Amino acid sequence: MKTYRMLIGGAWVETESGQTFETENPFLGKPWAAIPRAGAADVDRAVAAARAAFAAPSWRGLSASARGALLRRFADLLAEDAERLAQIETRDNGKLIAEMRAQLRYMPQWYHYFGGLADKIEGRVIPIDKPGVFNFTREEPLGVVAAITPWNSPLMLATWKLAPALAAGNTVVWKPSEYSSASALEFGELFEKAGFPPGVVNIVTGFGNEIGERLVSHPHVAKVAFTGGDRTGQGVYELAARSIKPVTLELGGKSANIVFDDAKLDDAVKGVVSGIFAATGQTCIAGSRALVHRPIYDEFVSKLVAFAQTARIGDPSMDDTQVGPITTRPQLSKVLDYIEIAKSEGARCVLGGQRATAAQCGDGWFVEPTIFVDVKPSMRIAQEEVFGPVLAIIPFETEEEAVEIANGTVYGLAAGVWTTSIERALGMSQRLEAGTVWVNTYRATSYMSPFGGYKRSGIGRESGLSAIREYLQEKSVWIDISGNVPNPFVQR
Ligand code: NDP
Repeated sequence: MKTYRMLIGGAWVETESGQTFETENPFLGKPWAAIPRAGAADVDRAVAAARAAFAAPSWRGLSASARGALLRRFADLLAEDAERLAQIETRDNGKLIAEMRAQLRYMPQWYHYFGGLADKIEGRVIPIDKPGVFNFTREEPLGVVAAITPWNSPLMLATWKLAPALAAGNTVVWKPSEYSSASALEFGELFEKAGFPPGVVNIVTGFGNEIGERLVSHPHVAKVAFTGGDRTGQGVYELAARSIKPVTLELGGKSANIVFDDAKLDDAVKGVVSGIFAATGQTCIAGSRALVHRPIYDEFVSKLVAFAQTARIGDPSMDDTQVGPITTRPQLSKVLDYIEIAKSEGARCVLGGQRATAAQCGDGWFVEPTIFVDVKPSMRIAQEEVFGPVLAIIPFETEEEAVEIANGTVYGLAAGVWTTSIERALGMSQRLEAGTVWVNTYRATSYMSPFGGYKRSGIGRESGLSAIREYLQEKSVWIDISGNVPNPFVQR
């Protein structure tokens, strides 16, 4: 068993209480490392360190170009360490090694991109309408940013926050999920190596229900950037509101993958499978509803089932595994419960539908890739986020009906459209209530393109040019150039 420490103020420390908790390997179903279990006092230490770093000349006094160079240096170190981090993530949260390698190969781009942006943050001179004054704006960092991330793509989702937050000149206290803290702590070492001043990035580990509230409500935290479930996100939002803190919330989804009768069916089959069974369905953008045009419904379902059946389930550390374990024990129960709910509501299961117990699954927490057909839009399986390899297929007759069903949930994170008609593609991209719409593809993301949710799927955008604005505040500066202070009793 490896024992980890947390990163506070540039030092690797134990918690004040000395407590740790065990983190488990979901493929083996066994603990493999001890993680510090922070308490409120540790959160206070981390926030104090981040606050001191924010004010210190070693960070505040750094030119924007030098800050950008640090981020780019970090990107290079990350690229060098990608394989090791991928292995740790796979061990700790069961994510496929193939997916982790791809994510980690791509992740440095965020630090290059936002590093490049650091010295392009500019204010404006306002052509002000009042005589005798000069007015300009400054773009300033907010202060200490609390970054809270879930377990499903931990380093990537942290990167989406850390890269723009640091490029803008903030300091960070990052609380990773209790289920994916090991990779976060290993990742933390690279900030030191890159030369970030102590306290600019701090990592506190532990249980969200024990330290999350303290972190979000801390008076010296200026902003909260959260990715997680919508219920937790709602609590974070309410708490942040009490101290008027800005938030970025990236929450859940129930995304629709819509297949029209003019689609290239074999491509659409791959797209729907990629939407729900890749990452074992444990992704916020999972295309967990397939809306299928009635004229091709039977043909599409049989092709889909035939293809999904071939998915190789098993050891996530093998290069050719396609479906890995469920990351956490509670999540395993939740996914199995939803399968029973779907059955009891009358949805027809045509693939999977139970815990996977094949020899190659060992004692791991696996669920068979599962497909329900003849799902009604009102069923819970069509409305609620399962976060597992469970697909609900819903037939539709007209484009109008497809839009109504697709938009008929509280979420609005993403949607997929499969069609060969450009008019239909453009029309649907406009009518779908989702922060991302993919046409004839699914699950594409980039550091250059904004990502975020409509409706209950979140607030704010990550990645792309707009993301940097989430970590800045605009100041308006007025300077008298007339040399003559006018009547003090009349507003200028
Ligand atoms: P949770 O909402 O349970 O947890 C997210 C993070 O919040 C974890 O670090 C958790 O810590 C922490 N947390 C828990 N309770 C509190 C609290 N009271 N105050 C502050 N923080 C708290 O989500 P999961 O980890 O289960 O992740 C899955 C969810 O994340 C799904 O709903 C998914 O859709 C969503 N998600 C959204 C994405 C997006 O970009 N829109 C991307 C990826 C996932 P701990 O783990 O220790 O409890």
